[in-house]
Amino acid sequence: MKNLYCRLFSHDFIVKNEITQFVKEYKCLRCGMQLTTSDKGELIPLTERRKEINKVLKTLYNKRRKLKQKVY
Ligand SMILES: [Zn+2]
Repeated sequence: MKNLYCRLFSHDFIVKNEITQFVKEYKCLRCGMQLTTSDKGELIPLTERRKEINKVLKTLYNKRRKLKQKVY
């Protein structure tokens, strides 16, 4: 079984995609399970819908960061 190790021990997550300072996408190196940070700061499964939300979030975040750089 592919993710037996993950079930016995724990997942081996790496940060796959940094959305904002607080929201990130994680992937388990062993079983490929993907997680992301929810609005409440909890780790939740990365669904297709979540991916879309994160994409928008990242665009907004980057825009805001650029605006800030212009102001200061
Ligand atoms: Zn895993």
